[in-house]
Amino acid sequence: MAGYDTEYDVIVCGGGTSGVAAAISAARTGAKTLVIERTGCLGGQMCVSGPPGFAYARLFNTHGEQDTAGFVEETHARLYKAGHAWPHYHPKHRVPAAYTFSYVDPEWWMLMIFNMMEEEGVDLLLDSLVVGAVKDNDTVKGVIVENADGRRELKGKIVIDCTGEAYFANYAGAETVCVDVEDIQPHTISFTADGVDWDKLLTYINRNPEQFEYQQLLHRASDQTKEDVYKAYSKVIDIRELGEVMGFKDLRDAALKNGDWHPFSGAGFFLQPKEGGKILAHFQHSSHWDKTLPTDAWALSRCHIECRKQIQIAWRFFKNYVPGFENAYIVKISTELRLREGPRIVGDYVLNRDDVINTRQFSDTIGKSSFPAGAYHTANVNTLASIGTQELGKDRAQPIGSYDIPYRCLVPKKIENLLVAGKGVSTDRAAYLRYVQQTMVTGQAAGVAAALCVKNDKTPREMEENIEEIQEVLLSQNAILFEPRKLVKTYEQQEYI
Ligand SMILES: Cc1cc2nc3c(=O)[nH]c(=O)nc-3n(C[C@H](O)[C@H](O)[C@H](O)COP(=O)(O)OP(=O)(O)OC[C@H]3O[C@@H](n4cnc5c(N)ncnc54)[C@H](O)[C@@H]3O)c2cc1C
Repeated sequence: MAGYDTEYDVIVCGGGTSGVAAAISAARTGAKTLVIERTGCLGGQMCVSGPPGFAYARLFNTHGEQDTAGFVEETHARLYKAGHAWPHYHPKHRVPAAYTFSYVDPEWWMLMIFNMMEEEGVDLLLDSLVVGAVKDNDTVKGVIVENADGRRELKGKIVIDCTGEAYFANYAGAETVCVDVEDIQPHTISFTADGVDWDKLLTYINRNPEQFEYQQLLHRASDQTKEDVYKAYSKVIDIRELGEVMGFKDLRDAALKNGDWHPFSGAGFFLQPKEGGKILAHFQHSSHWDKTLPTDAWALSRCHIECRKQIQIAWRFFKNYVPGFENAYIVKISTELRLREGPRIVGDYVLNRDDVINTRQFSDTIGKSSFPAGAYHTANVNTLASIGTQELGKDRAQPIGSYDIPYRCLVPKKIENLLVAGKGVSTDRAAYLRYVQQTMVTGQAAGVAAALCVKNDKTPREMEENIEEIQEVLLSQNAILFEPRKLVKTYEQQEYI
């Protein structure tokens, strides 16, 4: 392939959030690095099928301490300084539930990532599909890639699977697990709208707080009741403090009765920052289609078709029923599905629900998180969209504080010279590390580890014995591994002790 080498230290398959964090971190740690990406864009679900509603959110635990930094903090701070991100919003009713937002503009996020790739000297092979693994018995030696130029082999000393669905790990023969097709979480096509009269909408929210979702704001660590949440909603004067706006219960029920809403999901949207203080409404729950495995292209095609029908129904509802949407209009419909659930590798450790609830610490920690376990979407209107889950309620699986993510979750059993980051890492279903900042935490760690494997001539599994070296580099890149940090000045960046 003209213009590119055919041998790399580190090859990253997939340029989503985990992939770009992996590639930039590997390059910074001294490795000659290549990213191979199926589309022409970087960011994966962050940009191509997104953004995620939480881009970014939950960087702080129930004690109000920041537990996620490193690549996440760096990218947020860079965008914030350039006017393309909002500060960490910490309204009182959100902090005790560890449900805070630190929004970034996904389009500028993607442009910044392209710049960062150039700054770090990462090679990009876009519009190219990884279709197989080059192997010597159980040892990965490279990847097979297909693009308009044909089919080629590229050699890599370490390959990192960041495809989101563990495709490369599968090609390499690693063991993976995936929930049954009957239970898999539904997938979504998201869309974004402008032209909302935010003052009008906020007046409706202030006057009708009980019409909105509150479950995520109740936490076993706090005394906050639903009445407290309603009170907070009735007093909000800046819509950005709400982060997401989910519910519209009576309006939606009326629409359902009139045949103006579809029964697959609840009504609501997240906020997206734009230049000059502008806000877009981002709908990521208004279409849901279930029983679809990411490996079944016929089922995915059906999913695309159904979701696009649902978007039209949902939009009619917002225009005709929801105050403030009278003159709103759709500006973008994602071309790709948001794949909510897929295969995960079985690694040297499988992070589980108990680890999350008991905020377990591991000596091979490569990062932290405080996301609850077991937040499953189901495709029906009673989920009300905001992580409809069997686990919500006062006894839900929410950690008090932060749990560690062990390095061993990135190392697949049996297969050598392969690391996995992002959605495909080794967890049980409840502890699924699919949230956007978690994917960047595992991506950054995989990138650092891969580069150190090359430097030390060791396999990722052998590096389990050298974990201090990986941790040292991650700490030098501002990752949080051991002690979460206190945020001392709300609404400002970089004010931590
Ligand atoms: C609409 C929406 C809402 C979401 N809501 C939230 C939310 O509120 N909070 C939250 O934290 N998370 C949310 N998420 C989930 C989160 O964004 C994703 O789980 C996360 O971004 C996944 O990152 P990843 O790097 O593991 O995979 P992906 O982002 O899926 O990246 C994988 C990349 O690999 C590429 N690829 C795949 N196969 C190949 C191949 N064979 N060859 C080459 N390239 C390949 C893909 O094109 C893609 O770019 C949401 C996602 C979307 C789209």
